[in-house]
Amino acid sequence: MNAECPVSKKCGGCSWIGKSYEEQLAQKTRNLKKLLSPFCRIESVIAMEEPLHYRNKVHAVFGEDRKHNVISGIYEAGSHRIVPVDGCLLENEKADQIIVSIRGLLKSFKIRPYNEDTGYGLLRHVLVRVGHATGQIMVVLVLASPVMPSKNNFVKALLKLHPEISTVVVNVNNRSTSMVLGDKEQVIYGKGYIEDILCGKTFRISPKSFYQVNPMQTEKLYAKAMEYAALTGRETVIDAYCGTGTIGLIASDQAAQVIGVELNADAVRDAVNNAKRNGVKNIRFYKNDAGRFLLEMAEQQAKADVLFLDPPRSGSSEEFLRAVSVMKPDRIVYISCNPQTLVRDLKILAKYGYRARKGVGVDMFPWTECMEAVVLLSQ
Ligand code: SAH
Repeated sequence: MNAECPVSKKCGGCSWIGKSYEEQLAQKTRNLKKLLSPFCRIESVIAMEEPLHYRNKVHAVFGEDRKHNVISGIYEAGSHRIVPVDGCLLENEKADQIIVSIRGLLKSFKIRPYNEDTGYGLLRHVLVRVGHATGQIMVVLVLASPVMPSKNNFVKALLKLHPEISTVVVNVNNRSTSMVLGDKEQVIYGKGYIEDILCGKTFRISPKSFYQVNPMQTEKLYAKAMEYAALTGRETVIDAYCGTGTIGLIASDQAAQVIGVELNADAVRDAVNNAKRNGVKNIRFYKNDAGRFLLEMAEQQAKADVLFLDPPRSGSSEEFLRAVSVMKPDRIVYISCNPQTLVRDLKILAKYGYRARKGVGVDMFPWTECMEAVVLLSQ
């Protein structure tokens, strides 16, 4: 399968658009084998069946062209020039349509897009998140100031065009920063969050919480992680870097107890909610640095049988891995979005007596070079 996009050069989002999907998969398997074969056997990359429009989180920046027409799209790679985009091969199509509709409504509501150079105007970005299994849709309007004229009528007009929208949130970002979302939020329609279902469990997604962008492949990733963990129902399990608790909650049915640790307070709040929402009683979440938390557990001679870790791109920390060597969990399932830091951490774990047993890549990001991998280690 091949694909084309008229703005791919300027945008840079789909850096592998020139390769067929089959070629991409073969190259991803090759790259992963090259990096990980010194450690263990690597299965072929798990492909996406229909590798298009998989991103359930879509972001558009708003601005004006030279003739003062409203445009929306993405920043040109490495700059703050806006490349107008109405549709993208990677993005959820409904989300793209909603963004185009919002652009069309602005004029009649006399809402100007924000101008980064002059500081005039109101609408900076629109973020749309879609629950893959539930079909729920969240629209976040990122404004430069908290006052949105006739916001109720705006929502009414938007819902008339897209009755499928579940919630609309105004987010205020009045700083000059490359962060899309600011701190202040006001829900102007619906509940302020959406839900999605992964591996039979329901998860809440707030405007700011981390949630994997490709839910179909995420299910395969988590299923692989569970297969590698081979839980029997008797284990104490740690879910480190747990985000909104997805992996720990999915593991909870097959474990005696689960402990989740995560640094981001919003994510921990979502995780606690998610446990309640799914009636899971054998899980506890802690807001802490994963390394510090694990060291404290090790000092108290607490034991764990299985450790899941899913760190950010920078990988795990020396401190964390040292704590692992003290706690000596039986099995470690390492989920990584950056094979480079994965290799670095596998070398450290090898010094502590952990041998990688098998690994696999999951293609979470077709048409890009990004890689996701799962590796099982044991003593
Ligand atoms: N396992 C989750 C989230 C993985 S993303 C999922 O699959 O959805 C990585 C997470 O690590 C993020 O939620 C981030 O906030 C968290 N994180 C980053 N640094 C951390 C640290 N030092 N200690 C604990 N959590 C951290």
